[in-house]
Amino acid sequence: MKRDILDLPPRKLETQVADWRQARFRAGQIQEWIYKKDVRTFAEMTNLPKALRQRFAAEFEICRPTVARRLVSKLDGSSKFVIRLFDGRLVETVLIPSERRLTLCVSTQVGCRFGCKFCASGAGGFVRNLTAGEIVAQMMLASRAAGPAKITHVVFMGMGEPLDNLKSTVDAALTINSELGFNIGWRRITVSTVGIPGTVEELIRHAPQIGLSFSLHAPNDELRERIIPANRRFSVGSIIATARHCFRETGRLPTFEYVLIEGWNASTGHARALVELLSGIRCKVNLIPLNPASACGLSSPGSEQTLRFLSVLERGGVKATIRHSRGADIIAACGQLACPGRPVA
Ligand code: SF4
Repeated sequence: MKRDILDLPPRKLETQVADWRQARFRAGQIQEWIYKKDVRTFAEMTNLPKALRQRFAAEFEICRPTVARRLVSKLDGSSKFVIRLFDGRLVETVLIPSERRLTLCVSTQVGCRFGCKFCASGAGGFVRNLTAGEIVAQMMLASRAAGPAKITHVVFMGMGEPLDNLKSTVDAALTINSELGFNIGWRRITVSTVGIPGTVEELIRHAPQIGLSFSLHAPNDELRERIIPANRRFSVGSIIATARHCFRETGRLPTFEYVLIEGWNASTGHARALVELLSGIRCKVNLIPLNPASACGLSSPGSEQTLRFLSVLERGGVKATIRHSRGADIIAACGQLACPGRPVA
């Protein structure tokens, strides 16, 4: 079976070329053909020696998942792409325009094993990891659809837990960052995680300037376990320790995501507990009122309660903002992405 060339980040492509006793700059030429010139076959890479083109064609393919459906939000112009993978399974990726940014939210797994209570992606359980090529392909398909506008930011916040699929996440991020790939700076790439110990440290070894966003959602273990059952394995304390470590290593402020769920974690008492938990930590908090259209049976606090929560954080010296989800009318907002975990004809 042929391998997918999109799985190889720049270094690995260079190694492959060097293994075949070719000059390393050939790797850059191949990247340029694929990511800048959007060619579909190795035969079209006319500045490569014919023998090299043939060798690549014999051992690799340029895999292209297809867009099964595109939905455009009437509320805010966000686009959701439903992407059909080689085995017929579907994932979703969302392109989010705002005043000065065009952000792509990519998926890293079909389904998710973490089962967060507010999230549709985890409701059907875990199916499989995406390959690095399948993550990069989301970027290629969305870039082509967005043209001539350029994607400026990438967030690994779609379906799946990126650090439960660490190798593909790292390799895809390296291609997205590469000058001959998509040339998106590390400071414009963010990975969101529930905080699996060890994986965050590994990620920043490869990408020290990447943005990190920790899904916290609760100020204590008991409540976090109700919201993220996996917290039994990764405690609030371990997430805080990991965030501190990352800040020391990279100098980048960690972000904590806090989805506000009515009756669960959204009272002023919870806000005060969050202030206490984060005291002395340099960080930002994103408050995300749960999408009202959420299919999980939970609801969002009203805007007054959300503002009260924010004001407790601010008075406590915690830097925080309210982040409103986008694409709610096309089921593309935070916690809403979910495709059937089965092959679709
Ligand atoms: S919020 Fe993230 S980690 Fe939790 S179930 Fe959804 S995709 Fe998985």
